[in-house]
Amino acid sequence: MDELPGVPERTSTETAPDFDAVVIGAGVSGLYQLYRLRELGLRVRVFEAGTGVGGTWYWNRYPGARFDSESWTYGYSFSQELLEEWDWEEHFAAQPETERYLNYVADKFDLRRDIQFESRVAAAHYQEDTRSWNVILEDGRRYTTGLLITAIGVLSAATMPTIPGVETFQGQSCHTHYWPKEPVCFEDKRVAVIGTGATGVQTITEVAKTAGHLTVFQRTPQWCAPLHNAKISKEEMNRIRADYPEIFERCQETFGCFIHATDPRSTFEVTPEEREAFWEKLYSEPGFGIWMGNFRDILVDREANKLISDFLARKIRQRIKDPAVAEKLIPKNHGFGTRRVPLESGYFEIYNQSNVNLVDINETPIECITPSGIKTGGAEYEFDIIIYATGFDAITGAFDRIDFRGVDGVSLKEKWQDGPQTFLGILVDGFPNLLMVMGPHAGLGNFPRAAEYSADWVTGLIRFARERGLTRIEATTAGANGWTDHVIAASEGLLFAEVDSWMTGINRNVEGKQVRRIMRYSGGHPAFRERCEAVAADGYRELALA
Ligand code: NAP
Repeated sequence: MDELPGVPERTSTETAPDFDAVVIGAGVSGLYQLYRLRELGLRVRVFEAGTGVGGTWYWNRYPGARFDSESWTYGYSFSQELLEEWDWEEHFAAQPETERYLNYVADKFDLRRDIQFESRVAAAHYQEDTRSWNVILEDGRRYTTGLLITAIGVLSAATMPTIPGVETFQGQSCHTHYWPKEPVCFEDKRVAVIGTGATGVQTITEVAKTAGHLTVFQRTPQWCAPLHNAKISKEEMNRIRADYPEIFERCQETFGCFIHATDPRSTFEVTPEEREAFWEKLYSEPGFGIWMGNFRDILVDREANKLISDFLARKIRQRIKDPAVAEKLIPKNHGFGTRRVPLESGYFEIYNQSNVNLVDINETPIECITPSGIKTGGAEYEFDIIIYATGFDAITGAFDRIDFRGVDGVSLKEKWQDGPQTFLGILVDGFPNLLMVMGPHAGLGNFPRAAEYSADWVTGLIRFARERGLTRIEATTAGANGWTDHVIAASEGLLFAEVDSWMTGINRNVEGKQVRRIMRYSGGHPAFRERCEAVAADGYRELALA
């Protein structure tokens, strides 16, 4: 171990590792995992690459960044005191509010004293003789730990486009994930945005308000739906607070831990008039209702999916003045909800503004970035600012960027070359004492709800092992194969699995990520929890513990 201030004094033998547990990442899941491990009395160190807490909400400070989950379902549920103290300002909080919230949590529970900032983990190698991990930071500092817990998020490895000339641009440019802390002024500036995912949609809407001129480079249009955000009054917050037990209970019962539950009816059970009225209602309501609270068959039945897609297409046509522009903004290669639905606040209307134009790069592909702008097949554009909203090497990307080596030096990246293999999205066979909070093949959805559960399960397992003096925790190969097969089977028949997106592991800017893979469990959170509970109730006999 390097000589560093802040490493706790050794209380045990010389061969004891520096820490009982190292957590990688001080975002939503890392902060909570630290809190829980401290309760167990463990010596914990969190390594965080940023200079502050928040993870996603520390990095993604691009214009317009906010979440699409209701704020009051997004906060932690574990502390009654915290629930009583924190007032959300908006139903869908913007990045600054969420970052403030996570800082408040870090201060309230005095979490910072165990977090080492500006510490990006580059490698982690398992040592069988000591049943511990060597953790190596990017700057060469080294530590040892008994348990290694990843809390590195699912969308944290940002990717730039592989367009020739990116590095030659002489103006300002930035990937949305690495947005600077200082404000960026767009007034009188010629701005380009490449990318129209959930991030691009928010960025474009905000930048269009002040930019001298904005050009949007779109490869795939999205089925966006209105967010309908609003401020929360004091009285409303008090009502929400009183309802917290029911709110969290409901989130536990729904498929994706959101407040919105799937409508039990089929699209074809109702008359066309009833269907239209129901969809109008969903379209006029806040949040993900139109995606998560829709008829039960819209994401599995092609005909049902076509009808709801047609409904959304009509909405786009109604909102865009120029019919040719409207057609460009209507997705043609995937149905509604088969990619993550971006929620928007006036996105389509910005294309009616005179300071905004849309370039469909399927018609005129980007040839290169030049020192002064962007050259497409059809034209050369000059810009002062280029914004890359080009997404992430999702789910496994953050793992690939750390050189994890398990038993016999096996590389995790190589093991997962053809797709992740995990037990419950938490453990990997051949990688003892590595535990993943919200790892690949865990259920996704309303992130904090699922992350709290995942961290609690990890904590329960660690407690179980420590109480019995067990120092080696590993998934069995049969267990990992079984869960992986189950995850793949659970996605069969779901339309999202037939579409290219980060949810199916596609990132055309990353080598080896061109083939669709099942990256997450899509059997729903209640089923996920049931399986996890059964493993725990059975004394973790499905694991190899020693
Ligand atoms: P994304 O959905 O993967 O979108 C990336 C965009 O960049 C896509 O439009 C993609 O086009 C385009 N792109 C990538 N490489 C390109 C290239 N070489 N040339 C041209 N275009 C290129 O990423 P994201 O928008 O950052 O969103 C990722 C996820 O983060 C979201 O789905 C969501 O889960 C989460 N998020 C949440 C919120 C929220 O809660 N409100 C906000 C932002 C993000 P193709 O589609 O053709 O590949």
